[in-house]
Amino acid sequence: MTESSSINPGEDFKPQVLVIDDSMDVHRLLRARLRTEELEFREATDGQAGLAIAEEHSPTVILLDLDMPGMDGFEVLRILKENPRTLQIPVIVLSGLQSSQDKVTAFDLGAVDYVTKPFDLTELRVRVRAAIKMQRLIRMLAQKAQIDGLTGLWNRVFFNSRLAEEMGRLSRREGNLALAVVDIDHFKSINDTYGHPAGDAVIQGLAKLLVKECRHTDSVCRYGGEEFGVIMPDTGATDARNVAERIRAAFEQLSWPRHPERKATVSIGVAAVAGTGALTPEALLEIADKNLYTAKNSGRNRVVSSVAELVKVPAHAA
Ligand code: GH3
Ligand code: MG
Ligand code: MG
Repeated sequence: MTESSSINPGEDFKPQVLVIDDSMDVHRLLRARLRTEELEFREATDGQAGLAIAEEHSPTVILLDLDMPGMDGFEVLRILKENPRTLQIPVIVLSGLQSSQDKVTAFDLGAVDYVTKPFDLTELRVRVRAAIKMQRLIRMLAQKAQIDGLTGLWNRVFFNSRLAEEMGRLSRREGNLALAVVDIDHFKSINDTYGHPAGDAVIQGLAKLLVKECRHTDSVCRYGGEEFGVIMPDTGATDARNVAERIRAAFEQLSWPRHPERKATVSIGVAAVAGTGALTPEALLEIADKNLYTAKNSGRNRVVSSVAELVKVPAHAA
């Protein structure tokens, strides 16, 4: 998943094929015969090297030989499927072994396809194509599941995982992080007065404004209903407050075709952390929420921000 708020499910990339086979002849043959497929090749001649490349480069598909000295293909497959970083990569097994028990074992271990050597290259080509197509669809679906239907922004599922990722980073390395929680003021009355579609338009208008005002590296999410969360990596407390204030002021200026007589406003709670140390994502969110609550209670259409303390992680535990 890309770490930004820009959404591009049709992402165009050159598929990477990792070939793990101890025979250099196989590497040469595949490279030559799949040349017309617009693929990028990576090669490993043993299981260990293959696992390392798979973990580092996350190839689109893996072609894996079963019969290799040292770690055999079954073992490589088992390790690939146990590692969360590699388990979703489709593996096509290439093998000289013909027994149906081997095929069954390979499928049981998670292979998506099985091609016996010597392989028919036309057949191999279409099988590689099919695996790549499937992988693209899976990635697209995984991304779709994290996108909000009304606004096209990231949803709460993405927000939670992204925030946890950023807090984890701060526990390992010095940095800045800010979180803004944005909530539309008296939104219920907009719905009640002008109808639900008018309310939807206001939500969509805020979503568009947030994307425009935030940086490409920020994650803009619809947290729920008329509440949004913006995760701002590498952003200090003052900058975050300024961004929030800019959003507040710009939103207040928008006019709404369905109700030109009624402006809409937002209240924003900001929490920032700096340095290195531990804090749960929930604790940071709670501080931003508390600030939002204070903004609401002190008249709405305002920003309240604060700095949260990180708890030092002892050096030996880092
Ligand atoms: P406050 O200023 O305290 O935030 O008041 P509020 O009226 O904005 O807050 P409240 O939580 O009472 O109301 C939020 C409303 O948002 C209630 C719910 O019906 C409405 N809502 C939630 N999701 C949607 C949506 O997708 N579209 C529309 N039109 N309304 C929604
Ligand atoms: Mg509200
Ligand atoms: Mg609300």
